[in-house]
Amino acid sequence: MKNLMSSNETKPVTKRYQCPICKQMHDVSFPSNFAENRNKYPFTFVYMHKYVNATNVEDKDKDILTTLYLDAQLNIRGVEALLAEDDTNIVSKEISKEMIAKLTKVILEMQKEMDVLQKECCEFKEKYEKLHK
Ligand SMILES: [Zn+2]
Repeated sequence: MKNLMSSNETKPVTKRYQCPICKQMHDVSFPSNFAENRNKYPFTFVYMHKYVNATNVEDKDKDILTTLYLDAQLNIRGVEALLAEDDTNIVSKEISKEMIAKLTKVILEMQKEMDVLQKECCEFKEKYEKLHK
């Protein structure tokens, strides 16, 4: 039997970076195989945390949306941070995938319906033309 404890595939890798907005050090954990099979390097990882130590009351507890640039060894090569405003709409990848799947289904159904209608329309046209000859 395979010993799961000795497998380093599941052992997370923790990396530390300094946040350009809140100036704190943050630890981010990745699965050890997280960098495998990426289209290009460095690749991006989006991470979000609260602006807990904001000096400006208005900014306190706002979300800091962070994009980390990771290389093949999971080293953080770059950090971009953005303070999310209240009206910022962040749609997760899962939700957008679901939305696209639903819309695609609707479009396909409409296309089918359209084909049927077009066919019916042609048939009616033919009948009409025959009647009026
Ligand atoms: Zn931060």
